[in-house]
Amino acid sequence: MPRYEYRCRTCGDTFELSRPMAESSDPAACPSGHEDTVKLLSTVAVGGSASAPAPAPRAGGGGGGCCGGGCCG
Ligand SMILES: [Zn+2]
Repeated sequence: MPRYEYRCRTCGDTFELSRPMAESSDPAACPSGHEDTVKLLSTVAVGGSASAPAPAPRAGGGGGGCCGGGCCG
């Protein structure tokens, strides 16, 4: 089941929920019970600002570097 990240606009907290894709856009209350939340997208910058998050390496990668995929030449 995919995990979705949400941000509470009331308390500013972020939290993750595992829910079916069909329910990904349904309202999700934050752990504090606030219902004014927005879903965060991992691949699309929402509400663009000056502070872009740095890409963090994810565990479980193949371990291949840039030159291993042919992108260097
Ligand atoms: Zn909240």
